[in-house]
Amino acid sequence: MRTETRAEDLRTAVRTARARGATVGLVPTMGALHAGHLSLVDHARSDCDLVVVSVFVNPLQFGPGEDYETYPRDLDGDARRLADHGAHVLFAPDAATFTPTAAATTVHVAGLTEHLEGASRPGHFDGVATIVTKLVAVAEPDRAYFGEKDYQQLCVIRRLVADLALPGEVVACPIVRDADGLALSSRNAYLSAAERDRALALPRALGDVAAAWDGDADAARTRLAGALEAAQGVTCDYAEIADPDTLAPLHGRVAGPARALAAVWAGPRESPTRLIDNVALPAVAAAG
Ligand code: AMP
Repeated sequence: MRTETRAEDLRTAVRTARARGATVGLVPTMGALHAGHLSLVDHARSDCDLVVVSVFVNPLQFGPGEDYETYPRDLDGDARRLADHGAHVLFAPDAATFTPTAAATTVHVAGLTEHLEGASRPGHFDGVATIVTKLVAVAEPDRAYFGEKDYQQLCVIRRLVADLALPGEVVACPIVRDADGLALSSRNAYLSAAERDRALALPRALGDVAAAWDGDADAARTRLAGALEAAQGVTCDYAEIADPDTLAPLHGRVAGPARALAAVWAGPRESPTRLIDNVALPAVAAAG
C-alpha cells in the first residue's frame, strides 16, 4: 500500500492504474478506523482493482464547539489496518492544503440537509458535500463506498452525485455493530463503560420499533421517541420515521419501505457525545 498526501499525486496514481485497465473504488473516512470502516474497504476490495481510502478529519464538517480538535486520530494504526485489508492507496492530505482557507466554493445540497442531523449541526452537510465532491473529482472512482450508519449523509451524497453528474456509483454498506448492538463509531471511544451501557438504549429503541413495525409511521415515531425520552443517561435529539430516499417525515399508514432514524446525546452534560443510528423498516403488504 502506498500513501499519498497531495491531490495531484493521488490523481496520477489513479490515472496510471486506470490506464492499465484497473477499476477504482474510493472509501472516504475520517480515520480512527474500526470494523465498520474496514467493512467498506472489504466491499471495495471485492468489487474494484484499485482501492483508495482517504483518511481526512474534515474541518469543514465540524461546527463551532464540536470535537474537531479532539476527534481521535491514529494515522499509523490506520495505515496498518488498511494494509491488512488490502487497500492499495491511503490518501492522507493535510488540512491546510486540502481545505485552504482561501477556498471560495461550497457545495450545498438543499432540502435533504435541513432537518435531522442538519438541524442540530448547521453547515455540517455543506462540509461533507464539499469534501466528498473534491475527493471524487480527484479520484474519479468507478464506485464510492459509504456506510448506512450515516444514513442521511448517504442520501445527501447520492443526491449530490446525481445532481452534479459526478463519476462513480454510490455503494451503500450495512451498519456494523458491536456484539451488544451499538453501531461502531469512532466517537464510542469517548464513552465510559457505564455511559456506553446506557447508550444501548439507542439501538434497542430502534430494534423494538423495527420489530413492532406494521406500517403505522405515527405509532412508530411515538414509540421510538417515547423509548429514547424514557431512557436513563441519554437525551433524545430526534426520532423520525422517514421516506428512505427523500428523508421526508412519513405520517399515517405507509405501504412502502421507511427508515427509522434517531440521534441522542450520551455521557456527561458538559461534554456530551452525539450518537446516531437508524434501521430499515420494510414495506408492509396490504391487508386482505
Ligand atoms: P467516518 O470516518 O465516521 O466519516 O466514516 C467513514 C465511512 O464509514 C462513512 O461512510 C460511514 O458511514 C462509514 N461507517 C462508520 N461507521 C460505520 C459502521 N458502524 N458501519 C458501517 N459503516 C460505517
